[in-house]
Amino acid sequence: MGSELLYTSFIYVFVFLFGVCVGSFLNVCIYRLPLGESLIKSNSHCMTCGTPIRKRDLIPIISWCMLRGKCHACGAKISARYTVVEALNGVLWLWVFIHCDVISHPLYATLISLMTSALIVIFFMDWDTQLINTWVVIFIGVLAIPKYFLCQDIFPMTLTQMLLGAVVVSVPLLIISLVTHEKAMGMGDVYLMAAAGLFLGAPEVLVAILIALIVGSICGMILKHTNGNSVFAFGPYLSIGIFIVALYGRDIVAWYIDFTGINKVGEEAAMLITTIL
Ligand SMILES: [Zn+2]
Repeated sequence: MGSELLYTSFIYVFVFLFGVCVGSFLNVCIYRLPLGESLIKSNSHCMTCGTPIRKRDLIPIISWCMLRGKCHACGAKISARYTVVEALNGVLWLWVFIHCDVISHPLYATLISLMTSALIVIFFMDWDTQLINTWVVIFIGVLAIPKYFLCQDIFPMTLTQMLLGAVVVSVPLLIISLVTHEKAMGMGDVYLMAAAGLFLGAPEVLVAILIALIVGSICGMILKHTNGNSVFAFGPYLSIGIFIVALYGRDIVAWYIDFTGINKVGEEAAMLITTIL
């Protein structure tokens, strides 16, 4: 029993540390994708003086703390957000791996973790630029394929549920986007919900947009009140909704059915039909 606990703890520590390192790469995506820069070529450099960052200063979180958040060459402040993104990815990966039970379902936990990282990129990129990168969205859509074929045992989903998930939210958003000439809703949001719908399926994807609308309207009001900012990116809230549903979607849907008694109505209707027939 003791060795099993040690083994599990070791895996979780590894997941967190690996998640933090991947978070470092997410920072590169967040800053370079909007500029159209290569993700692998050229080393990172100070945003102020352009000095390349030394190898020993590339350790996630630790380097930032050692440098006390300042460039070693010019002393310019290095945004704490790099460290926040690294830590966030580590913590969320740990959350996903514990929730999905990595020991029994490693592939499923990995797929959800990869989608979570893509959502972090979308969250910060859309926050900064009001744009959602299409490649990141395609990445989420592609993750739906191994999930459908290889994770049926833990997350059973029919092809109909999957395809319905892809259109049930994205098509209404597309109509809103076309009618308002992308003022209320950008095409990035449409593509994101199509890809996430493919991954989450229906009706779960509906819960995701509902959470996004609730969180988005609360945060939107607070932001407008505090700094008068009316520029509104919907992607960050969609990302939060998709993440919560990826972990708890089935539970929320089951609770809703139980709470509203939809199932009962359905059962009674089915019984009535069978009696009549
Ligand atoms: Zn510098």
